[in-house]
Amino acid sequence: MPIIILPKEVSSKIAAGEVVERPVSVVKELLENSIDAGATEISIKIEQAGKKMIEAIDNGEGISYEESDIALKRYATSKISSSEDLEKIQTLGFRGEALASIAAVSRFMIESRSENQEIGFNSVIEGGDETGKKPIGRSVGTLIRVEDLFFNVPARLKFLKKDITERRLISLIVSRYALFYAGIRFSLFQEGKKVLATNGNNNRREILSQIYDIETAKSLLKVNYSDDYLQLEGYTSPLNITRSTRKEIFFFINGRLVNDPVLSSAIIRGYHGLLMVGRFPITNLFINISPTEIDVNVHPTKAEIRLKNSNQVFTAIQRIIRKTIAAYAPYAAVPPRIWKTSEPTKNVGNLEINFNSSADSDQEVQSSEKPKSVHLDSKKAYCLPLLRLIGQLGLTYIAAEGPDGLYLIDQHAAHERILFEKITNQGSMDENISQFLLEPISITLPATQIERLEKQLDLLAWIGFQLEPFGPGAYKIMAVPQVLSSMDPKEALMTAISDDQKSPKELVDTENREKMIKRICKRLAMKGGQVLSTQEQKQLIQDLENCKNPRTCPHGRPTMIHISVDLLERQFGRRGSV
Ligand code: ADP
Ligand code: MG
Repeated sequence: MPIIILPKEVSSKIAAGEVVERPVSVVKELLENSIDAGATEISIKIEQAGKKMIEAIDNGEGISYEESDIALKRYATSKISSSEDLEKIQTLGFRGEALASIAAVSRFMIESRSENQEIGFNSVIEGGDETGKKPIGRSVGTLIRVEDLFFNVPARLKFLKKDITERRLISLIVSRYALFYAGIRFSLFQEGKKVLATNGNNNRREILSQIYDIETAKSLLKVNYSDDYLQLEGYTSPLNITRSTRKEIFFFINGRLVNDPVLSSAIIRGYHGLLMVGRFPITNLFINISPTEIDVNVHPTKAEIRLKNSNQVFTAIQRIIRKTIAAYAPYAAVPPRIWKTSEPTKNVGNLEINFNSSADSDQEVQSSEKPKSVHLDSKKAYCLPLLRLIGQLGLTYIAAEGPDGLYLIDQHAAHERILFEKITNQGSMDENISQFLLEPISITLPATQIERLEKQLDLLAWIGFQLEPFGPGAYKIMAVPQVLSSMDPKEALMTAISDDQKSPKELVDTENREKMIKRICKRLAMKGGQVLSTQEQKQLIQDLENCKNPRTCPHGRPTMIHISVDLLERQFGRRGSV
């Protein structure tokens, strides 16, 4: 086919196809424009999931009568003027494409007045063609109404998701922007119903309570960190609030909502070993970094960015998330429902919740079981309180008293945690980890087992086994890891070797190492049903107190539950009911 320059009506639609994929893309572009215009109030209205109508009203700086035509042209932008500006973008928009693209695929109406003008304007554009412009009187700010989206590109309509999905996406985007820009009053009306209304008073907990339920909003842990390179702020799940997908992890980077699976996995790494397999946290994380450290010009809808130094950001996120969890949640609290409390249904309309909006309201809404102030650098924050042993229950649990109530410790899970940290630390310190046998023991194994063993030789050595080949299909065990010295050496070795049917990777990488340690811990840990002497029980508690992550076993199950004094008093009717 011959090469041609596409006529304008075609080219504008193609580009529009990139920027405007669906109603939520329009909402996002309009929102971003209003924020860039310095609005302190933004109201969005949606009809038929945005397919019939999307309207955005703001009180930002507005567009002047003279600039109104150019604003709607492709590549018209007030936000950058040179390619150098692209290196340090501070605004959300910069391509000058959104208004033109949206107007090309809808019946578009814009009204605006700029601060320094007496008179405003109203323009109507249908499928990219202006059908009328007139001067009007109105307040400073802008109103944009987008009707019948894709009326002239019906093929696009077919790709739209069900109304319910589109509506959910719109709510999601608007509420996340409202959360980040908590100093702006946002409202969102969908099909005539108010679904979000924030008051611009910077109280993010209050906004969280509109996004999630009140309890979740109160319980999310505050993330707060800064160094020379970046700042992290936001909210993340305590260990008892999880979801079955990773879709509840959101990032704002320099005020821009971005989708970054790598950063999501940094968050998930932060929770590694603390959540059950297949469970994920809820996280809203705000990252601030120098604009020269990111490239925002990599995606048509600006949904992705490129970090120049993503490793550094990845490591910081993982570390700070871990510290935040450890600092706030040293143990699992018993949810009241275990005790069959009849909680009166909280019938508080979302908008009536009145959190204390003082500067430290974030601390105040934390439950009384959590430390009032958290110093992320202090090692103490990880620890359990000193516990006094009460005794063993059902040969499976250990009851202990702390300053803030009763603790029930699962002896197997706790021992697994203790062993896990011991082996991990010993291995990484590389000292005296092996116990030499007085007489080496030779073992002969079937071919499949030998193959498995040989693949894991490095890993076995790292953990403290010393093995020597001893003819075909045979090895001599010279030394076993200290921690396994009480076991029969052959059994210890067999426990360590993966019984995983998938062929294990040969590398001593953290993942394989951890898997091996978990296998050993599971096998080695004392079981439920085992009688423990008072001394053994005390030792277990003491060892657990010394763990870095005392509250879960390596597989993510709780090692203990905590019944607070407060809960006991309520249950016994000594204090007002829940
Ligand atoms: P971009 O945001 O990439 O500059 P847009 O097509 O979204 O491109 O908008 C074009 C221009 O129109 C903007 O640069 C801005 O000057 C003006 N504009 C758009 N929306 C608004 C608004 N709500 N308030 C004030 N000015 C606006
Ligand atoms: Mg824009």
